[in-house]
Amino acid sequence: FKENVAGKVVLITGASSGIGEHLAYEYGKRGARLALVARRTDRLQKVAGRARELGSPDVIVITADVSKLQDSKRFVDQTVNHFGQLDHLVNNAGIGTPQTFGGTNISNYVPVMDINFWGSVYGTFFALPHLRKSRGKIVVMSSAGGWLYPPKASVYSASKAAQIALFESLRAEWGPGIGITVVTPGFVESEITQGVQVQKAKAIVESTCRGDPYLTQPFWVKSLFLVKLLGPELWTWFNYWVVVHIT
Ligand code: NDP
Repeated sequence: FKENVAGKVVLITGASSGIGEHLAYEYGKRGARLALVARRTDRLQKVAGRARELGSPDVIVITADVSKLQDSKRFVDQTVNHFGQLDHLVNNAGIGTPQTFGGTNISNYVPVMDINFWGSVYGTFFALPHLRKSRGKIVVMSSAGGWLYPPKASVYSASKAAQIALFESLRAEWGPGIGITVVTPGFVESEITQGVQVQKAKAIVESTCRGDPYLTQPFWVKSLFLVKLLGPELWTWFNYWVVVHIT
């Protein structure tokens, strides 16, 4: 965290487990006030208790499904009614489908887009007036799948690529008034990756990247290319590099 978040109001979707849960602890340690959103209330209550112990002065729990428009309006309204403001929206809620295309019922693909993509559209839409007021920030938990396109994750990767396109476009539309951070993690052990073997996942990432004209350049060429092209986007690209070379 470069920013001092003490006292800031942070709404985290998908805070009942995994990355969202740990983000709640990290924000909590730094004194942020939290609104934690997910479908499993009992899990959210536990996370809220721990975040309070770690230092958050005020935590509320909101049971909601981010893929439902009315739920998204409600969790933003409830947050602002309780705290009087909203400073950070963390669009983290997500699901996956580790299946070959056609390997599962077609209806299983629909919620992937509804939750991963439309969920972040809805939350952002309702949060926008409040973030404008606070000159706040949006953090988006996309995925390396959004630009590595590994096998057995086609609709998931498409939903994550759509998130990247959406928020890069909003960055251009809104300018510096509202900060946007798009994070593209590689493999993180959590409920979403339960049953996915770490070694297998690494092998998939490596095989997906082999032969890429950019990645086959020596490291110093890549660095120059990145600095020239990306400037402030380097952090996002650093994640990409980490995924390819270290994970
Ligand atoms: P988890 O499964 O541990 O967490 C997913 C969270 O999203 C849970 O809190 C879940 O809560 C919530 N969620 C799912 N559907 C909904 C819904 N409809 N409405 C509200 N909340 C919902 O996985 P991760 O922590 O790993 O995933 C977090 C984000 O990180 C996801 O967007 C994922 O795509 C992304 N990511 C993860 C990677 C990894 O390797 N783990 C890699 C790259 C990106 P509940 O079930 O209680 O609703």
